[in-house]
Amino acid sequence: MTGMVYLVGSGPGDPELLTVKARRLIDEADVVLHDKLPGPEILASIPEAKREDVGKRAGGEWTPQEYTNHRLVELAEDGKTVVRLKGGDPFVFGRGGEEAEHLAANDVPFEYVPGVTSAVAGPGVAGVPVTHRDHTSSVTFVTGHEDPTKEESAVDWHALAEGGGTLVVLMGVGKLPAYTGELLEAGMDPATPVALVERATWPGQRVATGTLGDAVEVRDREGVEPPAITVIGDVAATRGRVAAFLRNGPGGQEESE
Ligand code: SAH
Repeated sequence: MTGMVYLVGSGPGDPELLTVKARRLIDEADVVLHDKLPGPEILASIPEAKREDVGKRAGGEWTPQEYTNHRLVELAEDGKTVVRLKGGDPFVFGRGGEEAEHLAANDVPFEYVPGVTSAVAGPGVAGVPVTHRDHTSSVTFVTGHEDPTKEESAVDWHALAEGGGTLVVLMGVGKLPAYTGELLEAGMDPATPVALVERATWPGQRVATGTLGDAVEVRDREGVEPPAITVIGDVAATRGRVAAFLRNGPGGQEESE
């Protein structure tokens, strides 16, 4: 009998932000396929015997997506109950869509289990609401991973600059100079507030703030590393007005910056 695959979002990393359903499915699963993005605390809560890491390999290379797709089908055909655990929400830059299509194409039943996406929670724990009645009524989630100078770039940064809404950039640490450059070139105000939120809800959570004009300097000075969210827009200034009373620092403590 064919098993079952659950495409499960882990949320941003705090084990208390796992959904009740995610926790139950993880506990009941025969196998949990994951990468590092669910964060150290959630991964430590899963018995090693049923974990399979399909993230970065020892040499720093990513496990090919084809392998993960193949492995999901193989385990299901073996009758296993499989949790494919992804950071945040499986369908937000998580390649969950590709996995769902692959499972369907191979007659494997699956269920999507939403998670709290870092695209909303990352800014939020830094005191940045992605929308705000006084500042913006739209928000765009965008990958920063693409090289904006490559000709067939799927992201139109100029259009985003003109759109005027909040920009939430995922996978955007390395290419920060490239896309902030594009936004400036498109005429976005260099004084536009920016927040960089590193390891949101993980034990080592950090927040760094600046502007579109000095974001690269801030990144380099603070040594911001992935995983981190870049949030660009007037909403990022909200942090300054709430930080003194915000208790979303590491371990729920007030942040020291
Ligand atoms: N499916 C995930 C996103 C996967 S893409 C989600 O919904 O959150 C990977 C990117 O997500 C990272 O490069 C980073 O930009 C962001 N990310 C995920 N977890 C994060 C966290 N705890 N803190 C900051 N950024 C995070």
